[in-house]
Amino acid sequence: MGLAALKSSAWFTLYIRCENCMRDSERVVQMPIGDEVPRDAEELIESVYLEKIPFRCQPCGSVIGRLVGITGGTAYDN
Ligand SMILES: [Zn+2]
Repeated sequence: MGLAALKSSAWFTLYIRCENCMRDSERVVQMPIGDEVPRDAEELIESVYLEKIPFRCQPCGSVIGRLVGITGGTAYDN
């Protein structure tokens, strides 16, 4: 029970679809450690962190992506 768990930061996998070529890509992000950082997908969506994550589609170079899914975060029942 734990201190280790409390101090670890959350990892998320973002699924982003390019608005130009409609290809899906995945991006893994790690939240910084702190009290005000999002710990699950819902909190991440409501946070400002998403806006700070740059997107660039590898195949076509578009920088406009739509977030289509999030997995990961800190599960409360682990
Ligand atoms: Zn693209």
